[in-house]
Amino acid sequence: MEGSNISLIKNPLLDEKNIEVSVLRDDLNHPIIQGNKFWKLKYNISNAQKKGNSTILTFGGAYSNHILAVAQAGKEFGFNTIGIIRGEENLPLNFTLKTATELGMQLHYIDRTTYKIKHTQDFKDYLRNIYGAFYLIPEGGTNYYAVNGCMEIIKDSSLYDYVCCPIGTGGTISGITIANKNQSKVIGFPALKNGDFLKDEVHSQINSVTQDEELTDILMESFSLQTDYHFGGYAKINEELINFVREFNSIHGFKWDLIYNGKMAFGVFDLIKKNHFPKGSKILLVHTGGLQGINGLEERFKRKIYE
Ligand SMILES: *Cc1c(COP(=O)(O)O)cnc(C)c1O
Repeated sequence: MEGSNISLIKNPLLDEKNIEVSVLRDDLNHPIIQGNKFWKLKYNISNAQKKGNSTILTFGGAYSNHILAVAQAGKEFGFNTIGIIRGEENLPLNFTLKTATELGMQLHYIDRTTYKIKHTQDFKDYLRNIYGAFYLIPEGGTNYYAVNGCMEIIKDSSLYDYVCCPIGTGGTISGITIANKNQSKVIGFPALKNGDFLKDEVHSQINSVTQDEELTDILMESFSLQTDYHFGGYAKINEELINFVREFNSIHGFKWDLIYNGKMAFGVFDLIKKNHFPKGSKILLVHTGGLQGINGLEERFKRKIYE
């Protein structure tokens, strides 16, 4: 499960530009606790076990990869799981929530206003009154333990000039940037609009692990963002993106999710076309999984993404 699976991509554009692109196929690391969610949960699970918690509670939207990963982890590692879901219940349940329920997760819906105050002490006390003691994992799974797990994603980043990764909360790329130790340049592709704030977010997540401002500043020297590939915002997609992932799949034989990885891969290839990377560059794309999310997009847009 932990052996990294790296594949080299070949196509005429890369030959022409003299760029080497490899993909770290973390979409293959687990069928459901997939991609970065595996690494983000790894030390949260062991910490919950160590603390003697029998219940894990977390938060997410109705299509969340994290919600499903926690439901599966609960089943595999023997925890009760509670998912606090943003918005109202919609029946029949979508693929994500239906599968999470089948795995034993108990769902609790809260309105969007309450969702915004979900991390306040008052709201946690309210949840503890209902559910008793639980181990809390934040929305998206990002915390200190998650960043530590994500430090194990790339075994040797010195083999590459650039490491590219999609960003939601920044937990994953924070772990990657710490483990990178300035050996290559780490480029983050926010899946949401106005992603510039994520630089500060990544800084503070790295600092929570290093506990050393100076070291954090040094590690951040290798980090940068490409904020123009959000396609209109979080979970927004268009024809250009769909055509890109379809064509990529027909040539290279594997799929990108569209919420995160499709946008990142589109961005990397667009930057290659625009000669952003010097000739001879070696680029690693981290495939962070999330393939279950394709079902949700297909339900929402009432069409097939992949033929
Ligand atoms: C959650 C998720 C991300 C975002 O990870 P962060 O650590 O929040 O930045 C990226 N890709 C996929 C597939 C995800 O499920």
